[in-house]
Amino acid sequence: MSSSPYLVGLVGQGVGPSLTPALHMAEGRANGLDYVYRTIDLTTAGVAPERVGEVLRWARALGYNALNVTHPCKRLVIDHLDALDEDAAALGAVNTVVFEDDRTVGYNTDAPGFGTGFVEGLPGAATQNVTLVGAGGAGAAVGHALLDLGTEHLTVVDLDVDRATVLARELAGRHPSARVDASAFDKLSVLLPVSDGVVHCTPTGMADHPGMPFEANLLHRGLWVADVVYRPLNTALLTAAREVGCRTLDGGHMAVYQATTAFELITGITPDAARMSRHFRSLVG
Ligand code: NAD
Repeated sequence: MSSSPYLVGLVGQGVGPSLTPALHMAEGRANGLDYVYRTIDLTTAGVAPERVGEVLRWARALGYNALNVTHPCKRLVIDHLDALDEDAAALGAVNTVVFEDDRTVGYNTDAPGFGTGFVEGLPGAATQNVTLVGAGGAGAAVGHALLDLGTEHLTVVDLDVDRATVLARELAGRHPSARVDASAFDKLSVLLPVSDGVVHCTPTGMADHPGMPFEANLLHRGLWVADVVYRPLNTALLTAAREVGCRTLDGGHMAVYQATTAFELITGITPDAARMSRHFRSLVG
């Protein structure tokens, strides 16, 4: 074991069942590190999300090396940092905070996590024309990653059209050479027939939100289908897509690669992504 132990936390509401502590600690052990990762559940602690700055100050004072940050603190935490990396600044959301000696730095590993997982899981997939369903935090990270990957025309769809419009405008501002549109949910029947792929970024399909985010008859063989939902890995959407013959990507890829990047930021060690992926999939079951 290393002589300098790592203490890391996950801050958010309802984080108790998270798989991230087990994933990080196993990889820490495999690298000979003394690596402790604990959840800091704001609901259980009775701490309002708006007090995340106090949590940061206490965590630093108590000897934490870093924190992962999740719902609903990814934006709130930004005001309490000394510096932001480029992805986090572009997205306006932070999911990893590293306590350096003299400053507190925020990163966002969701966008590179999706990008790396996409390249690994759907090699060679066309990305010119993509439809993004869901304009929340995951949708913002995925949209950013797709445009970084070279998507020329991205259409953002959400039940809340205003949300889709705001995200499309933000993404277009950061990627001026791409065309980024917002569209109403009922236009999926027009969009999907001409899309190379669709990425699903709403909670539909999670164990507690079962079902399909849109009608299965909109799927066609020429479309790749990516889901960011990872509990379960085999969502109703991916099952339907495979039945039609679509290439598919499950949410485990993004989940693992956001964790590998965070692990590296925290420890300076490049983790074994394949080992973390196997471990993650055994945890999800
Ligand atoms: P969010 O609440 O920020 O956003 C969800 C968005 O989906 C909202 O804008 C909502 O209006 C929209 N929506 C809901 N149902 C819809 C439907 N049927 N059709 C169209 N739009 C709909 O949530 P989020 O943080 O973006 O998370 C979304 C999902 O992504 C969750 O299941 C989460 O677990 C998953 N996620 C996965 C990863 C990963 O690493 N794989 C990372 C982050 C989030």
